[in-house]
Amino acid sequence: MQKRTIVTGGAGFLGSHLCERLLKEKHDVLCVDNFYTGTKRNIRSMIGNPFFEVMRHDITFPLYVEVDQIFNLACPASPIHYQTDPVQTTKVNVHGSINLLGLAKRLGARILQASTSEVYGDPAVHPQPEHYSGCVTPIGPRACYDEGKRCAETLFFDYYRQHRVDIKVARIFNTYGPRMHPNDGRVVSNFIVQALHNRPITLYGSGAQTRSFCYVDDLIDGLVRLMNSASDFTGPVNLGNASEFTILELADLIVAMTGSRSKYVFKPLPMNDPKRRQPDLTLAKEKLGYAPKVSIEEGLRKTITYFDELLRTNGVTAGIVGVAEAEPTYNPHIALN
Ligand code: NAD
Ligand code: UDP
Ligand code: UDP
Repeated sequence: MQKRTIVTGGAGFLGSHLCERLLKEKHDVLCVDNFYTGTKRNIRSMIGNPFFEVMRHDITFPLYVEVDQIFNLACPASPIHYQTDPVQTTKVNVHGSINLLGLAKRLGARILQASTSEVYGDPAVHPQPEHYSGCVTPIGPRACYDEGKRCAETLFFDYYRQHRVDIKVARIFNTYGPRMHPNDGRVVSNFIVQALHNRPITLYGSGAQTRSFCYVDDLIDGLVRLMNSASDFTGPVNLGNASEFTILELADLIVAMTGSRSKYVFKPLPMNDPKRRQPDLTLAKEKLGYAPKVSIEEGLRKTITYFDELLRTNGVTAGIVGVAEAEPTYNPHIALN
């Protein structure tokens, strides 16, 4: 039987890659998105496929459709985007999760939540295993996202315990690749766009903070493995790539790979910016057979090619800003909708 599968946030960066993967696996895919940060450009290769349907809908409102599986990815993910309307960010995670869990409960459908490494906050344990409960402030500028995602996990586990909803929770670590939004302020997209324009590379703080970067194809493979995992495995499970780099090392690599003449400028570190982040992938390997395959060089090469083409064809040159300058002027719809 062909599975009818919803991807909320399906027009976003990760969601559009997931829709493509599910279509390849012969799912009947319903992409639900309000196009807040997602774009029609991301899904245009799928439009016209009889097994791909798009619904413009905000998941903070109820949704009545008939499906077998739900991937819940709807939520702005970059700090610039989720801090533009922080109340809405919390609503997406809380009201949105309640609506989709209500849908899953009514249908007896399996539901997967795209949670995040941000639930660990600025971690005191390194690398981060799933049993580490994190170090998060409830009142900082990142809290709408971090605490929103933590509350979503709480809702998922309460629907599991109280209503026996079939849940899966993935904690996604920093992922990059083609279709990242060029103005989203995330480090990989910022550095590549700056390097391609020979503009200054904006390093926040000293650049000594670390992140572990996962290429999108590996991450999508992890999400699909989790959705198809044994029914007694709920997660939460970390998904990402354990190769850890300082932000300065990432900048050096991108400058070298693009042959850029960009210089470095150092800017203040945003408030509550985590100092280190690296997934402990032991559980993902054991339960899902998950092992990321794409090296940072290969992943960056594909991502640089994508941005190079995008900037040539769309002339997206405005609005490449850091978090500090972003708030007064930022418009998440600026370039591509
Ligand atoms: P993205 O911003 O590209 O995608 C999010 C999508 O959700 C967009 O298409 C947006 O329009 C849609 N959306 C936002 N609010 C909505 C609403 N109320 N109703 C319907 N649609 C809505 O971000 P992404 O990087 O693709 O992230 C997808 C998911 O993965 C998010 O839940 C994010 O928290 C999670 N995640 C991503 C990363 C990463 O590194 N990319 C890391 C951790 C977690
Ligand atoms: N809901 C939905 N689609 C459905 C079923 C429920 O959007 O197919 C929403 C509905 O708005 C409800 C929420 O999910 O408020 C939670 O549903 P649940 O059954 O858990 O709670 P209740 O309806 O009892 O408040
Ligand atoms: N960062 C940076 N310059 C930029 C954008 C980000 O130095 O132009 C830093 C940021 O302060 C953080 C890291 O890169 O330490 C990753 O930032 P991103 O927003 O991509 O992800 P997150 O902080 O959510 O992990």
